[in-house]
Amino acid sequence: MSKDIVATRPASMWRYRELLPVEEADHTVTLGEGLTPLLPAPRLGALSGLLDLWIKDDGLNPTGTFKARGAAAGMTAAAERGVKEVALPTAGNAGGAWAAYGAAAGVRVHVAMPSDAPEVNRLECLAYGAEVTLVDGLISDAGRLVAEGVERHGWFDVSTLREPYRIEGKKTLGLEIAEQLGWQAPDAIVYPAGGGVGIIGIRRALEQLREIRWIPPEPATRLFVVQAEGCAPLVEAFRRGRDECEPWAGARTIAHGLRVPKPLGDFLVLRAVRETGGTAVAVSDRAILSAMTQMAREGGISACPEGAATFAALQTLRDGGHLRPADRVVLVNTGTGLKDQGALRAAARSESADL
Ligand SMILES: *Cc1c(COP(=O)(O)O)cnc(C)c1O
Repeated sequence: MSKDIVATRPASMWRYRELLPVEEADHTVTLGEGLTPLLPAPRLGALSGLLDLWIKDDGLNPTGTFKARGAAAGMTAAAERGVKEVALPTAGNAGGAWAAYGAAAGVRVHVAMPSDAPEVNRLECLAYGAEVTLVDGLISDAGRLVAEGVERHGWFDVSTLREPYRIEGKKTLGLEIAEQLGWQAPDAIVYPAGGGVGIIGIRRALEQLREIRWIPPEPATRLFVVQAEGCAPLVEAFRRGRDECEPWAGARTIAHGLRVPKPLGDFLVLRAVRETGGTAVAVSDRAILSAMTQMAREGGISACPEGAATFAALQTLRDGGHLRPADRVVLVNTGTGLKDQGALRAAARSESADL
């Protein structure tokens, strides 16, 4: 493997396959995920006092979110090992992604999700032929249901961080950001954390690239996580100097992907943020909606509420002295805004109310 070989390969996350969990290249379960655009965003940067702002637009993935990366890697690893049925809890988007990759691989997918997840998530799972169970509760309650099914039916449990491969797929976000910047790491990456697996993956990617000397030691990238005020267990734990989160009671936000009351990998996220000199901040749903509008109008970006949260956090990060004007900053837009009509409608409504 070399940078030159990588450069000649197709535009998908599998161009880094030596760093990914697949034994034989032709076993890869792929729908063309990854190598999404890394877009310069000068107009959005100007609005937040940043001269070198970029957006990694992962809304362009199959099923419209970065969950495709984890599902492609996880399904590849499962199928290569002869797994026939998998099960996972989801806030919504992971279910859709796994359902799609299950269909591509011929693997049965069982999904449990909160009954108030965006309807599109249930419908896409059904469209791809997955079995869907709606749960009156949060992703944590859905998780308990999956654990029962796994116990009873012997399904392979692909819940976040219960198997080691999903995170390898999400790692490709970091590999791509580095390649797209000419094999350089940025000064800062801002990520909307629910379970926080994406940021753990990004950290792992940058560490591996430094280890094989594909990127220089400097700049050391500061990792920032953003949560919603209505569910901010990581922000609270960071503020209190804790290594783990307290479960967040009454989690509520329009950013469904951020509604994770107790992330399983909380200690890894907190470590990643602290050890890189980043921080964790919370933004309101109102700020998220207004960021969705700004990203669309001033950047042409269709941001999901989670992705918009990163832009909403920039002012706080600037005011707190965490970002300097000349810093090269990458925001991760984890999904397309087109997938969440409820949020689009709310953003449009809050705009017209301001008029
Ligand atoms: C799942 C999800 C997130 C949160 O991802 P983690 O890596 O688990 O923190 C953010 N945005 C969207 C759109 C999601 O679907």
